[in-house]
Order: sequence, then C-alpha cells, then structure tokens
Amino acid sequence: MSDAAHTLERPAGAVPPAIELRGISKAFGPVQANKDIHIRVEKGTIHGIIGENGAGKSTLMSILYGFYKADSGEILINGQPTEIPDSQAAIRAGIGMVFQHFKLVQNFTVLENVILGAEAGWLLKPSVSRARGLLKQLATDFGLNVDPDALIEKLSVGHQQRVEILKALYREADILILDEPTGVLTPAEADHLFRILRGLKEQGKTIVLITHKLREIMEVTDNVSVMRRGEMVDTVRTSETSPPHLAELMVGRKVLLRVEKHPAKPGPVVLDVKGLRVVDDMGVERLRGIDLQVRAGEILGIAGVAGNGQSELLEALAGLTPGEGAATLSGQPLDVTGKSSDGYTRRMSGVSHVPEDRQRRGLIMNFHAWENVALGYHHDPAYNRGAFWMDNPAILRMTEDYMKAFDVRPPNPALTAESFSGGNQQKLVLAREIERGPELLLVGQPTRGVDIGAIEFIHQRLIELRDAGKAVLLVSVELDEILSLSDRIAVMFDGRIMGERLPEQTDEAELGLLMAGVTEKGAA
Ligand code: ADP
Ligand code: MG
Repeated sequence: MSDAAHTLERPAGAVPPAIELRGISKAFGPVQANKDIHIRVEKGTIHGIIGENGAGKSTLMSILYGFYKADSGEILINGQPTEIPDSQAAIRAGIGMVFQHFKLVQNFTVLENVILGAEAGWLLKPSVSRARGLLKQLATDFGLNVDPDALIEKLSVGHQQRVEILKALYREADILILDEPTGVLTPAEADHLFRILRGLKEQGKTIVLITHKLREIMEVTDNVSVMRRGEMVDTVRTSETSPPHLAELMVGRKVLLRVEKHPAKPGPVVLDVKGLRVVDDMGVERLRGIDLQVRAGEILGIAGVAGNGQSELLEALAGLTPGEGAATLSGQPLDVTGKSSDGYTRRMSGVSHVPEDRQRRGLIMNFHAWENVALGYHHDPAYNRGAFWMDNPAILRMTEDYMKAFDVRPPNPALTAESFSGGNQQKLVLAREIERGPELLLVGQPTRGVDIGAIEFIHQRLIELRDAGKAVLLVSVELDEILSLSDRIAVMFDGRIMGERLPEQTDEAELGLLMAGVTEKGAA
C-alpha cells in the first residue's frame, strides 16, 4: 500500500511532523508485530493509536523509544532522520515515555525519582535545589501537582503517573508517549490526566496516546491511527470518525457496541451472602463484611478499581480463598471458609467460576484443550468408564461441541491451551463453565485481553445464561462492560460495597465517585 493511504494529507511546506515513521517492520520469531508501518504525527497534536490487544501498538512505540530495534524502516523526528538505538538517544531526540507499569523507585521521593538518572551529580545540593525549582515550575505550568518530598509508595496511582510525566518533562521531552495510561485510573483520575494532556498540547507538546478505549480517543485526540494485526490500517481525523467506524477498522468488520438485551425477569434469590470477610496472609482485611444477593435471571455487576476486594469476593465464593461469614445457594449453605475445598462438589452443586486470571487459575497451559475442558469435572460419571478410566472419546466429543458453540479457533481439542490466543483461551474456559448450565456463574474480567469481536460474542453468551434463568455475579474493571451487562450494579471500594445502583439510573461519573470511595456523606 502507498504511504499516502496511511497518513493525512498535509500542505507542502508546512512544519515537519514531530514524528514520522516510514516502513517500520519488526518480527519476534514467527510473529510479525509490525508490518511496514507508516505514520505521521503532527506537531502540537494529541494523536491516538488504537487497536486490539496484540495489534502491535506497544512494539511500535518501543521502537520509537529505543527499546527494540526495527528490522527495517526509518524514523524522522521533526523532519530529521534519527537513529534511536537506546532510550538515551530517544531522550536526546526529545521523546519521553510513560509506561503501562511505572518505573519509579517506591521508597524514593518524587524529587529523587525525577532527578534520578537525569543529573550526573544529583546528590550535590545545588543540583537538588535547582531541580526542586524546576519541578515546581513544571508542576505549575502543566497542572501536575505533586509534593516533591512525598515518598512514591505513599502516592495514589494517578499521582505516580503524574510523576512519570514530570520525569519526562524534566528531561525536556517535546514528544510524550503514553501507553494505555488509563487502565489503572478511576474515571475522575482519567479526566484529570486528559486535562493535563490538553494543557501540554497548548504549550506546544506533541502527545501520542495508546489506548484500546474508543471513548478516550473520541474525547481527547485530534487524529487517530488504527492498527490491526501488525499493520497500520488508517489514520483519520477524530472529528471525522465515530466509535462504530473505529471499531470496524480495528476488527475488520462491523461490530455491535451495545449489547442487545431484554429487561431481566429476576426470580428467586440464588446467592445470598451475609457479612463476608476475608483476611489475607499478611493479616490485611480484604473484605470487610459484604452483603449481597443475586437472583435467578439477573446479572449483578461489581464495579471498582482493581484491588478493592473484588478478586477476594469471587475466590471466597468459589471456595478458593478462606473467608468468614454466611452464604447460601438456593437456600442451601454455601461454604465460604475454603475448608471444604472440594471444587468438584461445588461445581456439581451448580456453581461455576470463570477466574479473573485464566492463565493461573483457569487453565493448565501445557495440557490439551480437551484435558482442560475436563478439568474440575473429571469425577463426573459422564466422563468416566468403569471406576478408573476416563472416557476420552466422550470428552473429545464434548470439547468439539464446546469449541463449536463458543467459536474457539482453531477448533482442535488436541492443541495445548498455550497454543490458543488469549481470547480463544477465554472462550474455552467460558465454554467449560457455562455450557453445563450452572445455577450461579461467578465471572471475573470476562473480556480482559479479548478482541472486540470476541467481547461481543462473550457478552451475548452471558446474557443468554441470564435469560435462561441463571444467576450471574460479574466482576469487571471495565465500566462500559458493567454498565451494558448488569441488571444491578454494586460498587466496591476498600473491601466494602459503597452503594448499589440501577444501570439506567446512573452514569460513569456517579459510579466513578463511588469507585473512589466518595459517597453523598463524604469520603470513606
Ligand atoms: P499491543 O500493544 O497492540 O497490544 P504488542 O506490540 O504488545 O501489541 O504485541 C504485538 C505482537 O507482538 C503480539 O503478538 C505479541 O505477542 C508480540 N510480542 C510483543 N512483544 C514481544 C516480545 N518481546 N517477544 C515476542 N513477542 C512479542
Ligand atoms: Mg500494548
């Protein structure tokens, strides 16, 4: 394809683009992570890069930051061909990067982290006081308020991110790359970040924002480039596109963005939890008394920033983590102490569990797909012939059926779990847990790491389960997912349920406040 197909038209003689990549390719073994990428990022703009997981976004930016060496291609910064063999070279070229996982030293102060590595003699007093002045200036110029003397470990994630941005600005970055910066933020923190980014743009900085969230692209970017399977599909002006159009470019076909569903018809209470507490190995109280009910034919969504007790809630109810308190399943006692840790009995009593971390909890990666399908159900008479022998042909047939129903690709039961993509692994776990028609499905992050097309599919299966009169307890950190699937929403913060809302009577702003621990009565 021609260069022009990928880039916006620009008048001759205009300011050269801040970044221009020409024909960048990069392979990791058999995986072609970037294929002949062309992109131009205009100076003083916020440029989004969007694409499904694995599309090659992080690889492309890592090449620009000198982390990886491209197999071929050319980088131009402000119109100048530039070699970027390492991150020092990137910094010299005026490029700063804010990583998905921060690279801050936890027991150092903000000031120490900002200076670290940037100043040869940073222990010398004069350079420290000069740095303090400069940091203050940057903080006021760009609305990046953080206490220079605060220890990193005492700061919220949102503030730590600001320190990363300050670090880049301190190194005189003109171009700032942020890789999925909002994944760890509450909606309010994300809004604040976007205000900062707009401020930086007004000061002439160029921002590259990598995200897979369409809403963020629409809200804050000027232009957006879409990647799919290692290729650059298109670059468009944000004002001239729409979420459905971008989704189509990302996936390569039309997708439903809203889940279509009828109103729920809730039946009797299936899961009833009272005063559930979990204390972890370190003696920290992770669940501080949870009361909740899930009825037949409804989805109760649990919203919250990761790490506020959602994982412990699912694991205690699945019998995997010891808890205290009372729970019943259709009126029968449900053990939450983790003592009767017989997963088989629990499954047979009608509780299915799709764990948040499918690679650690949901699958045995070097087992075959069919073995994974039998996992947890291997005592089932349906799978057994005589007393000791598993009926492998029966399991194989079952696995083939599951693979067909859940569109697992490739539909080959003999492949090991690790040879499927993340989305297909997830479909395999979902098939195993859903196809038996559980009374209660406990499901954590059902679409994490899953492509947009598969998200739509998984959402439909969850709605079908609900419509079949089953109870679903859904945990997700994606607010969009919670809002579109749930019949009721409970928000968790710091091991407690902060409040319950109906999706049609709330919005992201209100849920975001609850997620940050703020209620009508004030901060928790
Ligand atoms: P994105 O950031 O869009 O999710 P990545 O750039 O991280 O995508 O990955 C693109 C592809 O390259 C994926 O298939 C990924 O598995 C592969 N990949 C990325 N980094 C490496 C690496 N260091 N080694 C091997 N494969 C990699
Ligand atoms: Mg990435």
